[in-house]
Amino acid sequence: MKPVPHLPHRPRLARLAFGVPFALSLCLGSAAETAPRNVILFVGDGMGVSTVTAARILDGQNRGQPGEENYLSFERFPHLALVKTYNVDAQVPDSAGTMTALVTGRKARVGVLSVDPSVAHGDCEGALSNPLTTLLEEAEQRGYRTGLVTTTRITHATPAAAYAHSIDRKWEFAAAMPEDARGKCKDIARQLVEFPHGDGVDVLLGGGRGVFLPVEQQDPEDAEATGHRRDGRDLIAEWLAAGEGRRFVFDHDGLNALGADGQVLGLFEVSHMEHEADRLADAGGEPSLAEMTDFALARLAAPGAPGFFLMVEGGRIDHAHHASNAYRALTDTIAFAAAVTVAVERANPAETLILVTADHSHTLTIGGWPARGNPILGLVVGADGKPGKDMAGDTYTTLGYANGPGAIKGAQGDLEPTHPDYRQRATYPLYLETHAAEDVAAYALGRGAEGVRGVMDQHELHGVMRAALFPADAPKTSDGG
Ligand SMILES: [Zn+2]
Repeated sequence: MKPVPHLPHRPRLARLAFGVPFALSLCLGSAAETAPRNVILFVGDGMGVSTVTAARILDGQNRGQPGEENYLSFERFPHLALVKTYNVDAQVPDSAGTMTALVTGRKARVGVLSVDPSVAHGDCEGALSNPLTTLLEEAEQRGYRTGLVTTTRITHATPAAAYAHSIDRKWEFAAAMPEDARGKCKDIARQLVEFPHGDGVDVLLGGGRGVFLPVEQQDPEDAEATGHRRDGRDLIAEWLAAGEGRRFVFDHDGLNALGADGQVLGLFEVSHMEHEADRLADAGGEPSLAEMTDFALARLAAPGAPGFFLMVEGGRIDHAHHASNAYRALTDTIAFAAAVTVAVERANPAETLILVTADHSHTLTIGGWPARGNPILGLVVGADGKPGKDMAGDTYTTLGYANGPGAIKGAQGDLEPTHPDYRQRATYPLYLETHAAEDVAAYALGRGAEGVRGVMDQHELHGVMRAALFPADAPKTSDGG
C-alpha cells in the first residue's frame, strides 16, 4: 500500500454526493449548508500499539523492505491521541464496554452493550428502561445514512453496541438467553432487524447468518449448517419484508451483482468471516474488508442525505491474538489498513472525519535483540548475525504474549515460528490470551480531527465524532467516568 498523503485530498465524495462537479454545487448554495457531514469510525478490535508496530514491520517486509521504516495508511494521519480504555467495572476492558464508550459517550460495564452503567449485570428489564443513545441511532433519527461493516458476526459485541441495548453481549439470538430474559427482552439479532430509528441501517456487511436463521432451515451456502434460532423465526426474511427494495446477499458474487440502490444486508458466513489469511480459500467467496468498505461508501455517499455514519471493524485481529497466533492478527491488521486507504481515497476531508482506533489492546510484546530487518514473525537473530539464545540455550521469537495458549506445552507443534498456524510463546498458560489495559492510539483525519489529541478517555472520542456529524448542536458533555 502506498503512503497516504496528508491534506488536501481530491473531493471525490463531494462529486459523488452532489452528482455534479463540486465547483458547480458551490454556485447552488452555501457549501457549508449543503455539504454532507460524514463520520467513518474504523475500529481495529484488539489492535494495540504493539500490534500496529508489528503489522507495520510485517507489511514492509512483505514488500521486500526491512520493515521498520514502513507506515500503515492511518499512521500518516495528522492528529493522534492515546486513549484510556477501562470499563466502568474492569481494569482490562472488553469490546462491549469499550464500543459503548465510543458510540454513546458513556463508559459501560464489561460485557454490556449501550446500557447505562447503573444497571446491574443480568438485569434485562433495567437495561430496557436505561438504554444509552448511540451515534448510529441519532444519525438515523436525523435522516443520515448509516452502515456497519465487520469481519465478525454482525451481532458480535463491537457492531452490536452501535444498534443494540443488551445487558449481556452473548445474547446474540434467543436461545442464547436465559429463559426468563427471553420473555422480556429481545436478542441482539432481533434488535437489528427491528431497529426502530429512521429507515433502519442502510448497509450491513459481515458474518453471522446462523443467528438470523432457524434450526429448521439449511444455510444458503454451507450445506452442513443450519440456523441457530429455536424460536422458528427467519430474521433475514423479516428484514427483507420490513423495507422497500432491500437486498440480502451471502457471497462475494452476490455483493458484486447488486445494483446501485436499496438497503443491503450481506452475511458472508454462518459465524465470523474468515481471517484475511484464509479468505481466498473460502468456498463461497468472501469480500475483503477493503471491498466491503468501498461498497458501503459508494452507497452511503449517494445524493439525498445530510451525511452518513459508517463503522468499519477489523474484528478478528482480536480473535487471532486470543489464540496467540500473531500471523493472523498482523495480516488482519494489514487488511484493516487497506480498508482505511479506501476511505482516505474516497473521502473529502472537509466533509468527512475518518477516525481510526482500537477498542482495547492485547498482551503482544516485541522484544529480544533482533537486527534491523529481522523477520518480525521469526526467531531473534542479532545484529552480529548470531541467533539469540535464552538462559537454557534455546532460540526464541521476537513476538510473544504475556499469557495465552502459547504457554501450554506443545502448543506450537513442530511448526516454524513464521508458519501461519504457529502460536507465539506466552508466559502464563491460559486457554485464551487476554486483552491488555495499556492505552490504544486514535488516529484522525479530516473534519474535526484536531479534537483528537493528548491523552483522552475513550468516551471523549464520541464527542469528536458527534461534533463532526451534527455541527448545529451544542456539544454534549461527556461524563463517562
Ligand atoms: Zn477479545
